[in-house]
Formats: sequence, C-alpha cells, structure tokens
Amino acid sequence: MTVKGRVALVTGGSRGIGRAIVESLARAGAKVAFVYNSNAAAAEEVANVLNAEGHEVWAIQADVRSKPASEKVVADVVEKWGKLEILVNNAGIIRDGLLATMDAQQWQDVIDTNLTSVFNFCQSATRTMMSQRYGRIINMSSVAADVSNPGQANYAASKGGVEGFTRCIATELARRGVTANAVAPGFIETDMTVAVVNAAGEEIKKKIPVRRLGKPEDISNAVLFFAADESSYVTGQILKVDGGIL
Ligand code: NAP
Repeated sequence: MTVKGRVALVTGGSRGIGRAIVESLARAGAKVAFVYNSNAAAAEEVANVLNAEGHEVWAIQADVRSKPASEKVVADVVEKWGKLEILVNNAGIIRDGLLATMDAQQWQDVIDTNLTSVFNFCQSATRTMMSQRYGRIINMSSVAADVSNPGQANYAASKGGVEGFTRCIATELARRGVTANAVAPGFIETDMTVAVVNAAGEEIKKKIPVRRLGKPEDISNAVLFFAADESSYVTGQILKVDGGIL
C-alpha cells in the first residue's frame, strides 16, 4: 500500500487513534500535518519522535469546530508542501448523558466536534483535491452509528451523520479522482474509553468476538488502506473495525 511522497492532514493527531494514524502515514513515507486542540505537550511529543526518525511531521493547533480555522490549516499545508492529497477527519469527543438530562451544550459540542468539523475540513480540502484530480478522504465514524447505547444520542447522531455525509460526497467527488470512505471502530484502548474499560473490567471483552479490545494500530491500518494510491476504486464505503461486534 503506497502513500510515499503524499501530503496528509490528520485532525486529532496528538493522542489515541489519531496519533497511530499520523505514525503509520509518516512511517510509510507521507509528509503529515496534524491538528490538535489543547494538549500542546502531547502534540509536540508526537512530532518530535517522528521528526527524529527522519520523517516530516508538523503539529498545528486549531479548533476543528471552526470553518475559518479549517480554511487556514489547509492553506498553510498547501503553502508549505505544495499540495494536499490525504485528509483524515479523526478528531472527536464524547459527552454522554441521557436525553432527559442532556443539556444543549452537550449536544452541540459533540455535533460540532464530530460532524461539523468533517464538513469544515472536507469542504476546505476538496477544492485543492479536485484541482489536483487526486484525493483520499477518510472520516472517523464509530459502531455507535449502528449500535444503540443509552446515553449516547448525541454521539450516535454525530457518527450516523458522518456516515451519510461520507457516502454522499463520495458520489460527488468520484469523477475528480477523489475517494471518500469512513472507518467505524469498535472498542479501542485510548483516553476516550479508559473510564468505561476501568468500570467494566474483563466483562467488556466477552461482548467482543475476538475477545480483546482494539488497539489504535488496528484502526490506522484500515486508514492506510483507504489512503493508499492503490485504493482508487474504493469509495463510499464504511469499514467496521470492531473485532466482530457487528
Ligand atoms: P482521544 O484519545 O480522546 O483523542 C482525541 C483527539 O482529538 C486529540 O488529539 C484531541 O486533541 C483532538 N480533538 C478533540 N477536540 C478537538 C477540537 N475541537 N479541535 C481539534 N482537535 C480536537 O480520542 P480517540 O479515542 O483516539 O478517538 C479518535 C476518533 O475515533 C474520534 O472521532 C472517536 O469518536 C472515534 N472512535 C473512537 C473509539 C474508541 O474506542 N476510542 C471508538 C469508535 C470511534 P487535544 O488533546 O489537543 O484536545
């Protein structure tokens, strides 16, 4: 699977799944810019480790909820490296709560971070990708788009939105050499899931047919497949990487 020489942009690349995606793209030979929000120390560590290995990695602070910020990030990457070929919309949050008590901010934060951000960066990047007649867009969904979990109405709505959005833009962009796909992870060991895993203990593994939690690398491998030059005939797909949950 080839991404050598390609320019990639990953949102939420400083921790968890996003960090693994940055690492695998960079180690496969892509130049990688990634966005983080607040944890500058984590972002610097990712960039420093990979740049010390001889890769080209650039950490950019930006809030993915902001359209002007997405326009600036894309413009800065294109100015620095002359093109943008791979976009991974990975940044996401959870703010769980039952409908009866969920406040409007909990709803809006999740929709803005998980779904509006995908619109922001896709629209900002596709002008460049369409004029290049080459692009690979990979959006991060979740099995929560399909599984009903009490307390996750905001999160499930955001990820269901990501999947519909991805299928739709795939049909719009196909003739311009731009593919759009999504990855839907199951239970992956990151900061996002640590509280649930600690509370549920070993019980959680009994619900997963492969009997283990996923690692961030399980997801970055799937992203690498969609990002590769060779995947030009794969578009509009939602790939579940969930150890068999669904
Ligand atoms: P994580 O460990 O909590 O990391 C989240 C990343 O997103 C961090 O780099 C964070 O940067 C960034 N981020 C959050 N809000 C942002 C904002 N407003 N602007 C810019 N960056 C922002 O999360 P994760 O578990 O790796 O999840 C990554 C993606 O996979 C999410 O879309 C999530 O919904 C999805 N997913 C995860 C799982 C799972 O089991 N972990 C399962 C299904 C789907 P800062 O640290 O700087 O804030």
